[in-house]
Order: sequence, then structure tokens, then C-alpha cells
Amino acid sequence: MSIPERLAANRYETDEEQSHIHVDQDLARSTGTGERIIAVCPAKVYAREADGRISVEYAACFECGACLAVAAPGALEWHYPRGGMGIQLREG
Ligand code: SF4
Repeated sequence: MSIPERLAANRYETDEEQSHIHVDQDLARSTGTGERIIAVCPAKVYAREADGRISVEYAACFECGACLAVAAPGALEWHYPRGGMGIQLREG
């Protein structure tokens, strides 16, 4: 089974009430964190908007933690989704 096929088998339970990811826009800009999290995220959760802000499409998050590894302290707040929410892995 290919990687795209494996990823397609995953299920997501989206927490419609709250995001598990928050970006400090000022710190993301001043530390370069914005560009790093856009580049590293395999799920394309982050994007640079026309006004310069980083948008967060948190429902697509794989919960891999890569963005945390490249973010400057304080620029990114990330925690696992509330119980029962988030990704439900089906293949490895
Ligand atoms: Fe993207 Fe992984 Fe960070 Fe989720 S945890 S936003 S998938 S880099």
C-alpha cells in the first residue's frame, strides 16, 4: 500500500470548538518560525496569508510534532486535541 493510500485510510474527528494549535503572529514573524513551520509540516496545516499572517488549518494535523521541533520558544502553542478528537491512525 502506498503512503498516500495509507494516509487516506486515516480518520479525523475535528474539534469544532477549539483549535489545538495557536500561532503567536508577532513571534512567528520576528523569529522566522512562520516560514519554518510552513516548510516542515507534512499536512500543509500552515499557510502565509496575503496580509502576512500564518493561518492554521488545524483539522488536517497528523500530530507528528515536526512544527514544535522548528518553532522558536513561545511562537507556537500546540497540544494534543481533546480526548477522542484529532487523527485516528488506521495504517501504521
Ligand atoms: Fe503539521 Fe505535524 Fe505540526 Fe500537525 S504536528 S501541524 S502535522 S507539523
